[in-house]
Amino acid sequence: MEKGFTITYEYGDNLYVNPTNRCDFNCTFCLRHNQGSGGSIYTHNLWLEREPTKEELLASIEGRDLSKYKQLVFVGFGEPTYRFDDICWVIDRMKEHGTKIYTRMDTNGTGCLINGRDICPDFAGRFDMVSVSLNTDSEEEYNAVCQPRFDGAYQAMKDFTREVRRYVPTVMMTVVDTTITPEQIERCRRICEEEIGAVYRVREYIAD
Ligand code: SF4
Repeated sequence: MEKGFTITYEYGDNLYVNPTNRCDFNCTFCLRHNQGSGGSIYTHNLWLEREPTKEELLASIEGRDLSKYKQLVFVGFGEPTYRFDDICWVIDRMKEHGTKIYTRMDTNGTGCLINGRDICPDFAGRFDMVSVSLNTDSEEEYNAVCQPRFDGAYQAMKDFTREVRRYVPTVMMTVVDTTITPEQIERCRRICEEEIGAVYRVREYIAD
């Protein structure tokens, strides 16, 4: 793995794509805060010295034997919707080339604010799954924990998740088990399942 320019990397059964460092949040638990303090793939090698071009993204993905992986996950050390148009371009080229793999995006759900438009319809036919970080059960705590750059991020995240269900077969919302209380985990379940209509997943915290 080339330090400073890791475009794709294996983790578990999946291949992950790292298109950007940029993020509109500054989450208190973000792995980016640990940069330089440890030795894992996350803390040392995922910070991009520069963003890969869309052609470099495509070449890195198609240079892999994709039959080895269950999912191709667009995530990154930042928020992937900063590169949303380029990611769509990459997936379209893969389709043209007959490159088949289950596609997923992990996002903080504010891509419409970042791109200044409704990006939900562009997920249609390109993504099999979208996973959105719900993080917590109230706007007040969300703003304290995630420190979003844009006003209205919490509502925008929920609106995005509800809307993108129209275009993507599986839409998931996640919380991290160690960052909130069991009562909050239950309230987040109700927001996810009853208010939004998404699949709920409680994730384990990965330290680095
Ligand atoms: S949204 Fe993700 S990348 Fe951005 S600050 Fe939060 S944890 Fe870090």
